Amino acid sequence: MKLDVTQAIRNAGTVYPFRGEQAMAPQDIAGDTVTLDDAQLEGTFVAMENGDVVVDGKLTTVAHARCAYCLAPVSVSVTADYRETFIYGGDPEDDEIFSYNSGKIDLERLALTYTVLNLPMRFICKDGCAGIGDWESRGVSVRLSQEELPGQHPFAALKQLLAEQAGESDD
Ligand SMILES: [Zn+2]
Repeated sequence: MKLDVTQAIRNAGTVYPFRGEQAMAPQDIAGDTVTLDDAQLEGTFVAMENGDVVVDGKLTTVAHARCAYCLAPVSVSVTADYRETFIYGGDPEDDEIFSYNSGKIDLERLALTYTVLNLPMRFICKDGCAGIGDWESRGVSVRLSQEELPGQHPFAALKQLLAEQAGESDD
């Protein structure tokens, strides 16, 4: 979403409220794909005399990934508070700062940055998840040895599992 800051710049020091949604692309986090619901953003923005704009607010979204132990789908609520200064005329290629160059401020990078910073270290379906063995208790036949886990990565294991299931259903 974009904030139209032209009025705020004419009225430096005046605080403006905002609310909206920001779509976010799936993220590759440590080899796992995390998909993200549209972020709900709300807060305020205020321009300073030099044209910089301070954006202050809160973000909520839901992140979807796979349990690190058993690969079951897991959804986690994410909330984050942010307060960032968007520097007028700042280098858009500079990852260390937020900047803008026109009458509008794009909140996509802010939303994504704060969402990723607030994701759990790992997605777990439940406390004490017993891992891949849990699938057997759900009636899913799983036979994975270490040799069958390319890179021993959970998501690689899932791909392998899905491929095996697809292969079986084709028979
Ligand atoms: Zn699990």
